[in-house]
Amino acid sequence: MSRKFASQADLEEKAVSFERLSEHAYAYTAQGDPNTGIVIGDDAVLVIDTQATPVMAADVIRRIRTVTDQPIRYVVLSHYHAVRVLGASAYQAQHVIASRDTYDLIAERGAADMKSEIERFPRLFRAVESVPGLTWPNLVFERSLTLWLGTLEVRILQVGRGHTKGDTIVWLPQERILYSGDLVEFDATPYAGDAYFNDWPATLDALAAMQPEQLVPGRGAALKTPAAVAQGIAGTRSFIAELYAAVKRGAAAGKDLNAIYSEVVTELRPKYGHWVIFEHCLPFDVSRAYDEATQYRDPRIWTAERDQQLWAALQA
Ligand SMILES: [Zn+2]
Repeated sequence: MSRKFASQADLEEKAVSFERLSEHAYAYTAQGDPNTGIVIGDDAVLVIDTQATPVMAADVIRRIRTVTDQPIRYVVLSHYHAVRVLGASAYQAQHVIASRDTYDLIAERGAADMKSEIERFPRLFRAVESVPGLTWPNLVFERSLTLWLGTLEVRILQVGRGHTKGDTIVWLPQERILYSGDLVEFDATPYAGDAYFNDWPATLDALAAMQPEQLVPGRGAALKTPAAVAQGIAGTRSFIAELYAAVKRGAAAGKDLNAIYSEVVTELRPKYGHWVIFEHCLPFDVSRAYDEATQYRDPRIWTAERDQQLWAALQA
């Protein structure tokens, strides 16, 4: 193998930022590593995505404690991916909230995904031995759930499929602040190995139609003006649409996955190659796009074995 598998060679720690977006909203970001959102109400704190391990989550909690001493009562999972959810136990929240589709994905493929993700990107699972097991939601909703943290309205919504089947966003209507999870990335390559390429652009259009004034993406810096929000949504949309169009073209011409992969990487690299984890994501993204363009409406489960087979095949 010419390159180390996935991101096993990515060892450089990123710098964390903890930013105040409004009286109630904060963003914990890390130069393209997975973000965490923080919403502080009148009487409780809500956290969106947990970091990958309880030890990593402890740094989020430490920063929350510099701005409030209210209890962290709610954790929202934007989707099921291990790197977002396995730190949940650190918060000792009363409620771990997820969509029904996310709950179903955890039940169906959470264990396989955990093993796959840890092997793909060990740096993102610092102190992985502190993970007690899968994170199980204890409050499951369909379509939408509204929480009032005192006078602050928090809307937890599933607006459509995209990054996964269960994608969930958190919307603060009074402040027009949106936490998008991995539906939107900024200066970071969208991972689409479990995606629905046909649905993702329309879901992004629905987010744009909400006219957020600020948006915290799944990866990358917080977007703090309407122009930056529009840029983040449009960039993600272009990447997904262009990748899928290129894969569909190759599939329609009867090309195999290896040939399509080479062509798509060459086509996308000039425009998107500087986004973090480009080389990491492309094999998985092209593979899923090829599946969706040919015979698999729903994403197949990634196992550690399937990951290795794909990586080896695409480098042959
Ligand atoms: Zn994800």
